[in-house]
Amino acid sequence: MKFETLCVHPTIDNNDQYGAITTPIYQSATFIHSGLDNNSKYSYSRLSNPTRNHLEDLVMKLEEGKSCNGFATGMAAITCVFKLFKSNDHFICSSDLYGGALRLFRTLKEDNFEFDFVDTADIELVKSKIKENTKAIYIETPSNPLMNVTDIKAISKICKDNNLLLIVDNTFLTPYFQKPILLGADIVIHSGTKYLGGHNDTLAGFVVTNSTKLGEDVLYYAKTIGACLSPFDSFLIERGIKTLALRMDKINSNAIQIANYLKELPCIKKIHYVGLKDNPGYETNLSQSTGFGGMISITVESEELARKILTNIKIFKYAESLGGVDSLITYPMYQTHADLPVEERIEKGIDERFLRLSVGIEAPEDLIKDLKEAIYG
Ligand SMILES: *Cc1c(COP(=O)(O)O)cnc(C)c1O
Repeated sequence: MKFETLCVHPTIDNNDQYGAITTPIYQSATFIHSGLDNNSKYSYSRLSNPTRNHLEDLVMKLEEGKSCNGFATGMAAITCVFKLFKSNDHFICSSDLYGGALRLFRTLKEDNFEFDFVDTADIELVKSKIKENTKAIYIETPSNPLMNVTDIKAISKICKDNNLLLIVDNTFLTPYFQKPILLGADIVIHSGTKYLGGHNDTLAGFVVTNSTKLGEDVLYYAKTIGACLSPFDSFLIERGIKTLALRMDKINSNAIQIANYLKELPCIKKIHYVGLKDNPGYETNLSQSTGFGGMISITVESEELARKILTNIKIFKYAESLGGVDSLITYPMYQTHADLPVEERIEKGIDERFLRLSVGIEAPEDLIKDLKEAIYG
């Protein structure tokens, strides 16, 4: 079955007793056992719930993995993955990552987890960081917010040669454009809050694994931590996924047009979008995915202009988050990456002139006009 069809029909056999076309919301904390020696399939919704299971099965199939666990947020998903490891374990991570992941890793450092942050596009550099206690490599590609691209297959080879797990946060491209497990990843993480849900109306996270054993380990910690996805939120995310393919195509095409418009403007000093041919990650991204996504970062000529854009935009909204139908602009230094040490942030170029755009599904003409009027109005 093709991806688009799977998004709409997670299961071809409709087993619902009333023939409901959407997955019912089983809003039940507990489930009745049919007899003393006869446990039902479900017992308690922290461990498993039919609505959540239905969605987890769908996300697992979309990512072509062997297991999937749903969480209340993307951060809960990442936190649960790190429960698989112990203090004194060492990790190699992309230097550019979602700010919340960086904050989590800082707290883990206090518990003696060890981290090296490097440019994971540089394969030799990654290899040189491997130590006896290295357990995993953690990447985002494209990364947040600099859109750095990492060669998943090449990193996966290093992992296999050195008995490390490869963990990929696939939030930005989604399995519609990129399937890390087919490229050798062991664990795929999602903030389902973003493109999977797609409507900025709920939070969710997922962990997909390439083996059932790893999936069982994740489930053990998932039920222990208890940050599970609720039945109603599971329903919302499943509903969002029905239009995932449509939305991603539209977002991709909108973002290409916007990036091409912005890159010609003299007041835009730098543009980070993996769909532009002069982006350093263009070729690698194209070799491992079928699209570029909707995330664009720009450095404008002055702080004044950055503030002017954020004040004047009308269709784009000044808000955190990304991946929804509505276009948003974020000021990373004050929002997503505010917790980064100042020198580190400035060195990366995440300064007062740096803005991040999440392109939505509106008409591209309106979005371009909105940016034009915000810049020149
Ligand atoms: C938002 C985000 C997260 C965290 O997800 P939440 O649902 O906000 O907890 C993790 N990774 C990436 C790439 C994100 O954009």
